[in-house]
Amino acid sequence: GDRACYDEAKRFAEAITMSYLRQHDVNARIIRIFNTYGPRMRLNDGRVVPNFIGQALRGEPLSIYGNGEQTRSFCFVSDLVEGIIRAMNKPGTKGEVINLGNSEETTIRRFGEVVCQLMGVPMTVVDRPLPPDDPTRRCPDLTKARNLLDWGPKVGLETGLQATSAYFRNQLEVSGQCV
Ligand code: UDP
Repeated sequence: GDRACYDEAKRFAEAITMSYLRQHDVNARIIRIFNTYGPRMRLNDGRVVPNFIGQALRGEPLSIYGNGEQTRSFCFVSDLVEGIIRAMNKPGTKGEVINLGNSEETTIRRFGEVVCQLMGVPMTVVDRPLPPDDPTRRCPDLTKARNLLDWGPKVGLETGLQATSAYFRNQLEVSGQCV
């Protein structure tokens, strides 16, 4: 499929990590990062968080791909970093494969509503085709992260989006693109 190189690159990285661990006793563990967002993302990286916030700030309609009923769960960057550091430092996690992310699942349409509500703009939408191989659902099982790392996400979507939109607003104001 269109995204095969991406999927296979991740699979290869995990396979070689485990091979080095077995062969050379490298002290490694694997983290699977689920959708993460926050300040210092690139506004034009094409992902849904910068796209929707940028569109709301410019007074443009939100580009919803497909019917918007696909789900994602968004983890704020500071939570992810804390999880990564714990995984690095925690004894007894060598060779473990651990999901990190947020398990608060939302449809993309609902996510758009939250963004517009928070930013105080009316929600208008433009329908765009669903990209190939777009998963209908993505939500991490965080049981292992909680048990092994005593970790869970702390920053809720609204708080995280506020910090992120403030960052993007600043970026756009500098270039005079805010409405
Ligand atoms: N998406 C959307 N509009 C956009 C960008 C993304 O509706 O302008 C959808 C996309 O189809 C996917 C979800 O939002 O279902 C998350 O997309 P993103 O690229 O941020 O992450 P990923 O697909 O890698 O989970």
